[in-house]
Parts: sequence; structure tokens; C-alpha cells
Amino acid sequence: SDSEDHVFKVILLGEHGVGKSSLARIFGGVEDLHDVEEAGNTYDRSVVVDGEEACLLVFDIWEQDNTHWLHNQCMKMGDAYVIVYSVTDKASFEKASELRIQLRRARQSEDIPIILVGNKSDLVRSREVSVEEGRACAVVFDCKFIETSAALHHNVKDLFEGIVRQIRLRKDSK
Ligand code: GDP
Ligand code: MG
Repeated sequence: SDSEDHVFKVILLGEHGVGKSSLARIFGGVEDLHDVEEAGNTYDRSVVVDGEEACLLVFDIWEQDNTHWLHNQCMKMGDAYVIVYSVTDKASFEKASELRIQLRRARQSEDIPIILVGNKSDLVRSREVSVEEGRACAVVFDCKFIETSAALHHNVKDLFEGIVRQIRLRKDSK
């Protein structure tokens, strides 16, 4: 089939400082640039999931200019969404719920894959949001859930593979 079918646009959402850029850079394989505070970036990579190749275009642009216009665009353009909070920051967890609600409003009748991500799982001592709270929130909001640590590279590969699987599941059921 047409190669366009296999390019999936994935948008990262979440409050400042939760680890969106860190996760995106690991995905893009460009961590060496981690000192560069870039305004916005897009990472394009092919991944083989369950024996089949998929191309993901990961957009780390949510905070690029923080305009209403850009945020609206982000809400419209994704084939899948990664909503990130930090397990060390309760306010970022509450913000994640808000973003989920906004997204539902923007894409009313569509069934788009959404993954709620609790990042910074390595920071055990400063944890403010438990795994159970994260999981319960995902159940309420009808989305997938995973905890990651960009610092330890824990579950980052699983996160992006999970997105591909979610997208495929929905395509196959159409
Ligand atoms: P963004 O604002 O959402 O793009 O967040 P960044 O990726 O810029 O990360 C903000 C800060 O948190 C940086 O200092 C990162 O090094 C740090 N950080 C990101 N992910 C993790 C993680 O999983 N564990 C720890 N300990 N620090 C992290
Ligand atoms: Mg960033």
C-alpha cells in the first residue's frame, strides 16, 4: 500500500519540565544534544514493531510558542497523543487530565490513541503521584498508561512501540 499509510503523527503534550523533550530525543536517537534548550523539534524515525515497519513523526512542539493557535493545531493534527506528566509533580498530573479533556473536546467523535505517561519514575524519593493513581486516571479517561524514566531509558521503547500497536489496532478494526 501507499507509504503515506505508515507515517503516523504523534504529538507530545504536557506541562513544562515533565520530560517531553527528553523522551522525544531518546526516540530520535539524538540525546547528545541534551543541553540545547530548543523551542520545538520534530523527530522522524522508522521502527519495526511486531515484524512490521512503521514510520513515526514525533512532534515536540507543544511549548514552541505557547499560543492558542499552536495548541489548537496540535489538538487537530495528531494520529496519536502522548500526554506526559512527572510522577514528582502533582500539578503536572492534574494538567494531564485537563489536556485529556481538551483533546476529547477537539476530537469529539474520533477514537484516537492516547497514552498517559508518568515520567521520572527513577525519582523514587520525590514521587507525588503513585502508579495506582496514574493507572486509575487512565481508566477514567479511557487511554493507555505507562510509567517511564527518560533518565534511565526505562520503558521509552515500549512507549513508542505501544503507540504503533494502538494505531494499528484501530486501523485493523475499520
Ligand atoms: P520538557 O519541558 O517537558 O520538554 O522536559 P525536559 O525533557 O526538558 O526535562 C526537564 C528536566 O527534567 C531536564 O532537566 C531533564 O533532564 C529532566 N528529566 C527528564 N526526564 C527525566 C527522568 O525520567 N528522570 C529524571 N530524573 N529527570 C528527568
Ligand atoms: Mg521541552
